Amino acid sequence: AAPGSGPRPRLTVIGTGYLGATHAVCMAELGFEVLAVDVDHSKIERLSAGEIPFFEPDLADLLRANLATGRLRFTTSFEEIAEFGDVHFVCVGTPQRPDGYGADLSHLNAAIERLAPLLTRPCLVVGKSTVPAGTAAGIARTLARLAPANAGADADIVSDLAGVQLAWNPEFLREGFAVADTLHPDRLVFGVASPAAEGALRAAFAPVIAQGVPVIVTDYATAELVKTAANSFLATKISFINAMAEVCEAVDADVLTLAEALSHDVRIGGNFLRPGVGFGGGCLPKDIRAFQARADELGVGVALRFLREIDEINNRRRDRVVDLVAAALDGTLARRRLLVLGAAFKPNSDDVRDSPALAVADLLARTGADVTVVDPVATPNARRALPGVTYSETVEDVAADADAVVLLTEWRQFAELDPARLGQLVRRKLIIDARHALDGDRWRQAGWVYLAPGRPTGV
Ligand code: NAD
Repeated sequence: AAPGSGPRPRLTVIGTGYLGATHAVCMAELGFEVLAVDVDHSKIERLSAGEIPFFEPDLADLLRANLATGRLRFTTSFEEIAEFGDVHFVCVGTPQRPDGYGADLSHLNAAIERLAPLLTRPCLVVGKSTVPAGTAAGIARTLARLAPANAGADADIVSDLAGVQLAWNPEFLREGFAVADTLHPDRLVFGVASPAAEGALRAAFAPVIAQGVPVIVTDYATAELVKTAANSFLATKISFINAMAEVCEAVDADVLTLAEALSHDVRIGGNFLRPGVGFGGGCLPKDIRAFQARADELGVGVALRFLREIDEINNRRRDRVVDLVAAALDGTLARRRLLVLGAAFKPNSDDVRDSPALAVADLLARTGADVTVVDPVATPNARRALPGVTYSETVEDVAADADAVVLLTEWRQFAELDPARLGQLVRRKLIIDARHALDGDRWRQAGWVYLAPGRPTGV
């Protein structure tokens, strides 16, 4: 039977990183039979053994529960997934190219070129990776050319899943909330080229759609653009309030109060209006850069010129933290002992890709400071990304003789630190709260100099 009708489609997931592993586990949790593949054999071994190769709350328990039911399995064989799947979700990475702003589509193209020749029966391939507008149309052509199931079928006019079809279904999950976001997304976007493809996707998401989640059905390019537009808007909101922080610093105004007052306006809203050390991670920075590169290629680069400014505001916040620390230490950072709180790009994640915290730690270390980075879960990844500094999982072990404490990731553990106790360990009671995560009054009352970017030094 076509995947859109009758029994539940059997699902596969290609690429088991943050997105793919979460998607595979959650689709099994929703009752589907799922087989997931990755080219990284060690990842597949760990997942098969019930171990998540990264940190994501709640995911490990769900992985083990669904492995136990037999609904969820992992493999390194593309032959096996091609044979198994009615709907194939492609979740491979699309990082920034090393030589420019554009997206590196080599993993995506490799996955499609490996899968397509093995697709001998009707099925739907669903791209979930974030890609430049126009990518899906090219992949549809590759599938039409390479998939044996398409032999003789007109790839553009398929009223049923007679051959292999493509859909684009961008993903909006947030690391740290990935399980809840996948089981209960705020919307589903289906970029499709036929009613049959839409039907197959609806079947694959039936338990989610049954919750009343809105489904937006559109063409490939619009679906691709929804994702990059959403990330550009979020980045813009963050850089907007950080630009206000720069202005606040010039007139000794308070950006936190400003943000709070703005947030009561329902047209503006308070989400993503938190000033701090800016955005990072494996998505926002590379996605806004790839979007600019693609707009340039399309001849509409001028429309997205503001994104360059958004990126620059974001990077200036990192320098600003370094300046604040230096100014508070009489202009000298060389040989100062600095305790950096946070390595992950945000709390509840071990992801250090383009992490503002690690970027600031790196800038501080380059001045000759003696930097120790504390993070409850991200130190293994951080050690690989920035080997030149010292790491610890807890603050107390490494706080002795610190000249300054710099909070860069707002882990709950850091917000709960006792300023009196920490004050007994450090050499100098100086804290720079770059994420506005602490109660400044409490730290000042415990005798600390408390500084936060965008806030008057006396607040
Ligand atoms: P990731 O690097 O964690 O995972 C990518 C996985 O793909 C890796 O395990 C890698 O081994 C595997 N892979 C690479 N080439 C392959 C191939 N040819 N065949 C099979 N597997 C292959 O990346 P991620 O964070 O999961 O992101 C994946 C995509 O999802 C990106 O396009 C990203 O922009 C998008 N996305 C990510 C998030 C997020 O929060 N991480 C959210 C929404 C969208």
